[in-house]
Amino acid sequence: MSAENPDTKFIVPVKGVEKSIKLDDRAKKELQSIGMMDEKGKLKLKGVSPKMLKRMKLEAVDCPVFEKELGFIQCYVCSNFHSRTMGKVYCKGEPLT
Ligand code: SF4
Repeated sequence: MSAENPDTKFIVPVKGVEKSIKLDDRAKKELQSIGMMDEKGKLKLKGVSPKMLKRMKLEAVDCPVFEKELGFIQCYVCSNFHSRTMGKVYCKGEPLT
């Protein structure tokens, strides 16, 4: 799948979920290392209001790289995340381990 942006490999629709998907340990470590989460596990995303954060927790993507459903917050902070427009994530699609 291609998009206008050459960096984008996948366009992934964001979907709503009834229960928020927990961040995995890898994502937590990553967030802590870049200062977006404190030691207590509280998220501190720059430019994201508590209201937005609440909404983001109830969103998810079927990630084509990790080949599983991931919470949108994990996607938002992923190094492959390019942008989000009209309910779709523009994902760079680089292989990640
Ligand atoms: S940005 Fe990351 S988490 Fe989101 S769809 Fe792409 S690889 Fe998956």
